[in-house]
Amino acid sequence: MTTPRSTRPPRTLTTEDTPPQVGTAAQASMYQQLRAHLSTLKLVDAAEHLPAVLDAATAQGLSVTATLERLLAIEVDATQARRLAGRLRFACLPSPATLADFDYDAASGIDPHLITDLATGRYLESATNVLMIGPPGVGKTHLAVGLARQAAEDGYRVYVTTAADLAARCHRAAIEGRWATTMRFFSGPTLLVIDELGYLPLPAEGASALFQVIAQRYTKTSTIITTNRPITSWGEILGDTTVAAALLDRLLHRCVVLDINGDSYRLRDHHARTHTLRTAAAHHG
Ligand code: ADP
Ligand code: MG
Repeated sequence: MTTPRSTRPPRTLTTEDTPPQVGTAAQASMYQQLRAHLSTLKLVDAAEHLPAVLDAATAQGLSVTATLERLLAIEVDATQARRLAGRLRFACLPSPATLADFDYDAASGIDPHLITDLATGRYLESATNVLMIGPPGVGKTHLAVGLARQAAEDGYRVYVTTAADLAARCHRAAIEGRWATTMRFFSGPTLLVIDELGYLPLPAEGASALFQVIAQRYTKTSTIITTNRPITSWGEILGDTTVAAALLDRLLHRCVVLDINGDSYRLRDHHARTHTLRTAAAHHG
């Protein structure tokens, strides 16, 4: 169905609804059909811009190919913008923090080269995890959210939560018989950020939910965890040293570790990162 003319938003590029050079009734009818096709195919933005594009094509003597390209490019741009907005809504980013906002001079122990490397998103392709350890206020959440936003902008499915929220949600899911659905939900995103592990003690079933989430994402998708507690005290956080060891085993198998307090970061079993590490070390002199 075509949009009624009276409700179409005003355009700036043309003042006529019908394009110029529609000399015959047959041409006018074909134009209406074209509009109807675009509407049927839900190419809303292309339909809306059709008159302006046809005007431009006539005015500039564009070829048929160039005209079609211009029209479909409008639809593609609008579709990509809609998809990005959808990914950002889904991601539940808790703040507008971006990587560009991050001040490296204010953060001790963070190598800008390593963050630049992470910002390329290559870690997502190899299902590499990121563990950020440091005291409160050093920018762990900022960096994690910045990486999440970057990943969403690059087209990846991203979800941000906290360890406490994840545990609470899994707890509710278990009670309401939605455990499997919830586990599937947490295995879905290409990047899952679990913020603030260790701020609140996790109940035993929370620790086991966290373990399951990490275990099912292991080697498939990336997880970023931020914590204020060194991994040596994760047995305490999780209330069980065996679960902590099993979780760390999977998390660190392929992991970039950012120790934001000190001036070192470690890297395990991830060859693609080794070069960056050496270069970074060289830069540190
Ligand atoms: P953490 O998660 O480590 O406790 P946050 O990321 O929440 O710390 O940082 C606290 C506040 O300080 C946030 O508003 C964050 O944007 C800001 N912040 C911290 N470190 C930096 C930094 N190096 N550059 C820019 N802003 C920072
Ligand atoms: Mg934080």
